[in-house]
Amino acid sequence: LALGLTLGATGCGGTRGGEAADNAGADNSGALIGIAMPTKTSERWIKDGTAIQASLEKLGYKTTLEYADDKIPQQVQQVSNMITKGAKVLIIASIDGTALSDQLDDAAKAGIKVIAYDRLINGNANVDYYTTFDNEKVGVDQATSLLTGLGILDAAGKETGKTGPFNVELFAGSPDDNNATFFYNGAMKTLQKFIDNGTVVVKSGQTGFTQIATLRWDPATAQKRMQNLIASTYSAGGAKVDGILSPYDGISIGIISALESSGYASDTLPIITGQDAEAASVKSIIAGQQYSTIYKDTRQLGDQAVTMADDLLNGKTPEVNDTTSYNNKVKVVPTFLLQPSVITKDNYQKELIDSGYYTAADLK
Ligand code: BGC
Repeated sequence: LALGLTLGATGCGGTRGGEAADNAGADNSGALIGIAMPTKTSERWIKDGTAIQASLEKLGYKTTLEYADDKIPQQVQQVSNMITKGAKVLIIASIDGTALSDQLDDAAKAGIKVIAYDRLINGNANVDYYTTFDNEKVGVDQATSLLTGLGILDAAGKETGKTGPFNVELFAGSPDDNNATFFYNGAMKTLQKFIDNGTVVVKSGQTGFTQIATLRWDPATAQKRMQNLIASTYSAGGAKVDGILSPYDGISIGIISALESSGYASDTLPIITGQDAEAASVKSIIAGQQYSTIYKDTRQLGDQAVTMADDLLNGKTPEVNDTTSYNNKVKVVPTFLLQPSVITKDNYQKELIDSGYYTAADLK
């Protein structure tokens, strides 16, 4: 298969890779497109789903948008139904990246194209394309902002010479979500040096991915783990936690509840990171509780998935800009990567309000 070079929308070189669309010649105007999202408990997936649906409908496609309550059998059923209903493309943000293999095989047999959305689907060859934010960079950014918040790095990312030691605890995301390991690896790569030289001390000793993972990204699970950490590690000697690596805003909210209920005042909370720039957490950042979050503009990601689907249905080969990073254990899935950015109290106005992602009223 020949790879043609084209210039990406972002200005970086993009390659057109993956399978050529086999829809060339077919009239797919008004085709049905299935959109499978994991849950409505996190605001970001609601924003993703509605943005994708609106853009597809603007292009004249029919859509079916389903949320699965974070339940794997429910998502399996929903994707099966989309196939039965005759969807031509499936855009899937999976709950468990390995649970949809039978559905993907059925889709391939029916000539349906599959786009993995935000989360990679593992263990199956019938994942045609993937679009996501640079997940390792998310982890690097989370750890870097933790180090900046603690004063170990300055705003330019240079070491200040502050050596602490700072007590830090680590949280990771759901083990069945491929992204969680990318976030963890990016963060650990950034923190390791400071752990090794004693500037950062993980007092609980819990640094392995499985020790710190949070099944289904559940805030209550994180809250309980934080309570346990306080009881086991921070109460007796009066030691305080100075920083917490949190991979997701919902988890940060659980962590903050645990800290506040065990006596941390709102203005003496540790430096806490997050992800998704969810409204409740941006408000918490404005109020000086959470320190940072990672902004991933769901409008951009939605548009990217819509462009891919539209290309596939029009016999064009979707543009990608990464053909090495995302191996789903069967093949490297051609990917279009977008760039995340760090949000703190200092830039939320410009990044989130001036950009139209939120209105000022949303964050009041
Ligand atoms: C997404 C994150 C999100 C997390 C929990 C991950 O797959 O990439 O943006 O915070 O799921 O929903």
